[in-house]
Amino acid sequence: MRSACLAHLRSRVAEPLEPPRDWTRAGALVCNCAHCSELSHFLSDPESQVWTFKAAESKRRHVEDSIRRSHCDLDLSTHRQGRPYSLVCTKNQASYERRVQQRKKDLKDLARLQS
Ligand SMILES: [Zn+2]
Repeated sequence: MRSACLAHLRSRVAEPLEPPRDWTRAGALVCNCAHCSELSHFLSDPESQVWTFKAAESKRRHVEDSIRRSHCDLDLSTHRQGRPYSLVCTKNQASYERRVQQRKKDLKDLARLQS
């Protein structure tokens, strides 16, 4: 049991851990309707950081829901100027930051198991 844990932890801490080099983010979404495809395209674009989706509330909700369910690295806000409102999606480094936290924990666990 202990050695399986050690092997698992060792292989995980051996993986490279680097912040994203550009604005490309994982673009696999749970849905692939026209709006989600547009979003997916934005996620895989290394040069754009912000995407503004101007649409009726039901569509914005749908896209928002899809983003949450797919755990995309995006900060969301609703821009309430003009009608319809816009959903503003800004790329962030949430996955990388989660991995940094995980790495810290792994290293601590590893040190504890090896002592
Ligand atoms: Zn969709």
